[in-house]
Amino acid sequence: MRFSTLPIRLLPEAPKDADTVNHQLLVQAGFVRQLMAGVYTYLPFGLKVLNSIQQIVREEMDGIGGHEIHMPALHPAEPWKKTGGWDAVDVLFKLESRTGKEHALGQSHEEVVSPLMGEFIQSYKDLPVAVYQMQWKFRDELRSKSGILRGREFLMKDMYSFHESQADFDRFYEDVKNAYLRVFDRLGLVAKVTEASGGNFTDKISYEFMVLTDAGEDDILYCPNCEFCVNTEIAKVAEGDKCPKCSDASLKMARAAEVGNVFDLGKKFTEVFNINFSNASGEQAKPIMGCYGIGISRTMGVIVERHNDDRGIIWPTSVAPFQVHLITIGVEEAVGKAAYETLQKAGISVLWDDRDKSPGTKFAEADLIGCPHRLVLSKKTAGQVEWKKRTESEPSLVSLEDCIQELT
Ligand code: ATP
Ligand code: MG
Repeated sequence: MRFSTLPIRLLPEAPKDADTVNHQLLVQAGFVRQLMAGVYTYLPFGLKVLNSIQQIVREEMDGIGGHEIHMPALHPAEPWKKTGGWDAVDVLFKLESRTGKEHALGQSHEEVVSPLMGEFIQSYKDLPVAVYQMQWKFRDELRSKSGILRGREFLMKDMYSFHESQADFDRFYEDVKNAYLRVFDRLGLVAKVTEASGGNFTDKISYEFMVLTDAGEDDILYCPNCEFCVNTEIAKVAEGDKCPKCSDASLKMARAAEVGNVFDLGKKFTEVFNINFSNASGEQAKPIMGCYGIGISRTMGVIVERHNDDRGIIWPTSVAPFQVHLITIGVEEAVGKAAYETLQKAGISVLWDDRDKSPGTKFAEADLIGCPHRLVLSKKTAGQVEWKKRTESEPSLVSLEDCIQELT
């Protein structure tokens, strides 16, 4: 992408009202713009990151047998009234049509997916089945702050699975937990699997995936020695207590952001929507259901919270908007264009800063945007390129060919 063609400009400073690092950096570096509290436009860089996160999640969901679908965001009121969500879900946005019909904006999709899958699930041979989507959710959150961490409109991956037996559900639950850990690992995040209550859904234990960050809204207690981790909201243990799992170390308290969760829904929704299948003995039974969310846009914000320094964002390679940020200073356009095209032909994504700006501005903005590799072509580099990783402070002079070899 040629920078001069982009419809964005970076800001000299972070917006005054931005209270978190992700909000400050994402706005200053031109990834997003806030329309109102909790509602954001994703600009070209921001959309690229969001798409890369989605792609990683998609690969891992497909890998455990999920099938991608796309459900509507606009729902009739009836299924929400049927489950009781119409009155019980405080964040549900409700709206009325011109003809007086009531609707809800999807804040989650159990009410849509359950009757939908009920149409297809007839026999135990149709089970297990899992469908997922990438969907913009709407929630009437009272406090939308912390940049894109808590939106009123936000992108979620939500998956729903249906099973013949508790044992089969338990097997899939483990598959999803492991897939989630792979997702967050690929995104450059360390997620702690945290025990929590089942929230609105059930009295069963659910698991949240928590990333430590002061910008988060949850407090967790974790063991520095083993994987024990609980949300303080439900905890029977306190800070400083011996770890109930390994009894080796004392529990620590930390702030964290929930990037995903998994719920055992039991038969709650399959009962409400009267979904039946005939089991192997020919009897009618109700499937056991699970739901699994990942906050795609929140995760993008959490990545920024975890990967930055005083100069800007440091994107993990897996989700960087571009692998290479190419800067040309005082060289002929044809020279820059040749390097730009050579990199692209090698399959490397490039942002070419071909703008008429001072070297100081170009360097500062490259650090702010945070692509993993910065290449500079100038009179001084004499046919070679000056290569610096975002995480390093000193550049080195290399040939473009050697650089490409290392990057591919
Ligand atoms: P929270 O406790 O943070 O409100 P939740 O328990 O309401 O989350 P779910 O309804 O299960 O979360 O949604 C699945 C995932 O979607 C969450 O794990 C989180 O990553 C993300 N998420 C939930 N609410 C928001 C929001 N308002 N803005 C951005 N992401 C959100
Ligand atoms: Mg919530």
